[in-house]
Amino acid sequence: MRDVVIVGSGCAGNTAAIYAARANLKPLVVQGHEAGGQLSLTTLVENFPGFPEGINGPDLIANMKKQAENFGAEFLHGSLLEADLSKRPFRLNVEDEWIETRTLIVASGASARWLGLPSEQQLIGRGVSSCATCDGFFHRGRKIMVIGGGDSAMEEANFLSRFGSEVTVVHRREQFRASKIMLDRARNNPKIKFLTNTAVMEVLDPANNLVSGVRLRNTETGAIWEQEVDGFFVAIGHIPNTAVFKGQIDTDADGYILSKGGAKTNIPGVFHAGDIFASGPRGWFHIRRRPRTGRPGDQPDVVRRYQTRNPHRAEQRQAHSGRLRRKHGRRGEVLGIPARRERLCRHERSVRRILRRSKTSSDYG
Ligand SMILES: Cc1cc2nc3c(=O)[nH]c(=O)nc-3n(C[C@H](O)[C@H](O)[C@H](O)COP(=O)(O)OP(=O)(O)OC[C@H]3O[C@@H](n4cnc5c(N)ncnc54)[C@H](O)[C@@H]3O)c2cc1C
Repeated sequence: MRDVVIVGSGCAGNTAAIYAARANLKPLVVQGHEAGGQLSLTTLVENFPGFPEGINGPDLIANMKKQAENFGAEFLHGSLLEADLSKRPFRLNVEDEWIETRTLIVASGASARWLGLPSEQQLIGRGVSSCATCDGFFHRGRKIMVIGGGDSAMEEANFLSRFGSEVTVVHRREQFRASKIMLDRARNNPKIKFLTNTAVMEVLDPANNLVSGVRLRNTETGAIWEQEVDGFFVAIGHIPNTAVFKGQIDTDADGYILSKGGAKTNIPGVFHAGDIFASGPRGWFHIRRRPRTGRPGDQPDVVRRYQTRNPHRAEQRQAHSGRLRRKHGRRGEVLGIPARRERLCRHERSVRRILRRSKTSSDYG
């Protein structure tokens, strides 16, 4: 039986693992089909604090994993295939092996929706991106193309116009799904041009391992032509990885987890971290800045709070209290505090408070 299982090994899962491991919860991280998450797909990450020259996404993720492992986190290859969150302990099917856990942190992220072209897939992180906030800066003074017709495409185009010399929005239909205000904003931006009824056939040039242009087709006339671009941004939405929790964890219509505040979900003992959470802009930097809810660092705190209120933890708490007593008893003597009297050091007092509370608490918080 595990205290904490974390589903997902992206930056949210790894951060939750570092905090949970430091809280002595010995977390198990289920890595999933994309070990390291979305950042392992990219090259330079420039907005993570502490790296003035930026850091390669895969290196950053490898460091996070190592850091979590140093504190005792365990990593498991494979994906979560099934979850039974209807009773406790929770039961998780990871590659046909059932794991039981008292608490669960869902950090399974949201995968960008791609066009699915082989050339696009090959050039991800080399001019092809799904995140303007993350990669716009690399395209200063260059020609940029944004694919999509919804609000996020308009938002990305407007944002990218700060960097690019020109931004072309390519949409396969005449009508846009974007809201009027977002569309008007993009239309009024002198740097943004529109190409409607246009589909992308291929991103050029996979042979050179960088984006130099695109091959386009007019869906009405069938005309085919090539256009020079340096940055290719796909903004056709994200797919949250919540299918395995369907019908159990509350999500919005798109499948993003609805937060109950403080990283809680509708199921006590199940928490969320990172991009899987509904609302707010995507991107690791935003996760870090997001107040209270959904911050990966918040989970171990709430997990710990949840577990200290949970009756089945009483035994472990007692053992912990004994350890503290042994440790701080000595300190008490050094400080001249008589050990037999009830003047316990601060840590001991908090342990007692927890024990007292656990005697009166019988629910799962
Ligand atoms: C090309 C690219 C470049 C980016 N660059 C930047 C940048 O420079 N700066 C920035 O701030 N943000 C950047 N982002 C965005 C950033 O990567 C994401 O915001 C961030 O990775 C979200 O972290 P996450 O841990 O929530 O999810 P993810 O990174 O998506 O991780 C999800 C994890 O869940 C796992 N998983 C999914 N389903 C299951 C399952 N059933 N069982 C077990 N595990 C599962 C996956 O294997 C994966 O490990 C970039 C994204 C991309 C695609």
